[in-house]
Amino acid sequence: KELMGSQQRVAAETHILALPMPFQGHMNPMLQFSKRLASKGLKVTLLNFTDKQWSKSEEHGSVNVELIFDDTIFSAVSGQEDDDIMSGYVYLKNLYAAVKRRLPEVVAKHGESGYPISCLVYDSVMPWALDIAKQLGLFGAVLFTQSCAVTQIYYEVYQGKLKVPVEKAHVELEGMPPLEIYDLPTFLYDLENYPISLSLSTSQFFNIEEADWVFFNTFNSLEDEGLKWMGRQYSITPIGPTIPSTYMDKRVKDNKDYGLSLFKPDIESCMDWLDSRETCSVVYVSFGSLFILKEKQIEEIACSLKRSNHYFLWVVREIEKEKIPSSFLDETSEKGLVVTWCPQLQVLAHKAVGCFMTHCGWNSTLEAMSLGVPMVAMPQWADQTTNAKFVADVWRVGVRVKVGEEGIVAKEEIDLRIREVMEGETAIEIRENCQKWEKLAKEAVDEGGSSDKNIEKFVAKLAT
Ligand code: UDP
Repeated sequence: KELMGSQQRVAAETHILALPMPFQGHMNPMLQFSKRLASKGLKVTLLNFTDKQWSKSEEHGSVNVELIFDDTIFSAVSGQEDDDIMSGYVYLKNLYAAVKRRLPEVVAKHGESGYPISCLVYDSVMPWALDIAKQLGLFGAVLFTQSCAVTQIYYEVYQGKLKVPVEKAHVELEGMPPLEIYDLPTFLYDLENYPISLSLSTSQFFNIEEADWVFFNTFNSLEDEGLKWMGRQYSITPIGPTIPSTYMDKRVKDNKDYGLSLFKPDIESCMDWLDSRETCSVVYVSFGSLFILKEKQIEEIACSLKRSNHYFLWVVREIEKEKIPSSFLDETSEKGLVVTWCPQLQVLAHKAVGCFMTHCGWNSTLEAMSLGVPMVAMPQWADQTTNAKFVADVWRVGVRVKVGEEGIVAKEEIDLRIREVMEGETAIEIRENCQKWEKLAKEAVDEGGSSDKNIEKFVAKLAT
């Protein structure tokens, strides 16, 4: 006990800096990982390069969020319809310049105030942050915010073992099921639309050997074979899922536990509305923070939701709102709620939610699995296609829609898939699988679980 007490004291003096990529799907896991580290006694400061967050810094309790707003870098992320965010060479260049300029200032400031920083935890798509950390004499720990399977695929491309653009019908990779082209991340075959996204994805490995720790937001039992395979390439450490334990224990009181939202969630209307619905009666629909659906796709979803037997809660972001058919909101006011952003974890943890129609962003996928919610997988781009493959065929916690003409999923297909996860034999099987993964996710992060132990080891090592 005495030894543990002294370790805690040393840990409290150990100060780390967390540097997320300023996108919602990257900030959430970094903030949550930071909170876990803080709960183990470390002092954590998270650098936030955007003033777009809705929740303010003081709401993050254990983690000190330092706003380093620089309007030169963030303009692209707010997303105009035509913005291809990831093709923002200028954005990335500006981000690099801002970090290079500001990081030494932050490190010097904390050094002078008596809480010197010893380690930088940075997002894997910012590999250059490691060089800056090393120049400042810090340890560098990289956090991969995508799945291990997707990381392996990008790694195979980086190594030249998987040639792009992929044109083969099937791809066989060790430890993975056979993958069709449309199961691979879209950057591997749609090079024209995403010119720099693939190089950004492979850049994650440039200097990975020099990182002192390589963290993955996944857990052992979820990606057992993949993690073993990646572990033979590098020394890697799974620390996920980075879901706050208050949610995993279904002890949700408010949304402060998640925080740093770039969009204003409609907390009260969502939760009040869900409270008045019966268990498993609601289809929750969201496509994350980045992808903008075509008008035709929104129309198909609207039509399907309108005629389905189930209630729905649908997130249609501000930027897409105009695309909702004009009479839809009036005609469905009794059975549905449409919001521009919601407290997603709180929603997924609510007993009224029966399934999640999702784009399968990695965070959304992990959140649904950790909270035991069946999915209708409707991937759009990037790594979502691979996540959807695993959701439907490996973990079997959902079904995947078939894409029709011009890349649109037809209303009949959506009807069918929603029914499959909400009613009948398949739904029962999927729900059982969901319960299994929910339990395993919780075990991984509970005290003594595989991810928890990994985090403890990191903290102990830093604190010595
Ligand atoms: N999210 C949210 N409210 C919403 C939609 C999404 O809080 O209405 C959160 C969600 O919980 C997740 C993140 O935004 O943590 C989206 O990340 P993900 O990797 O799923 O997708 P991306 O936005 O990167 O495509």
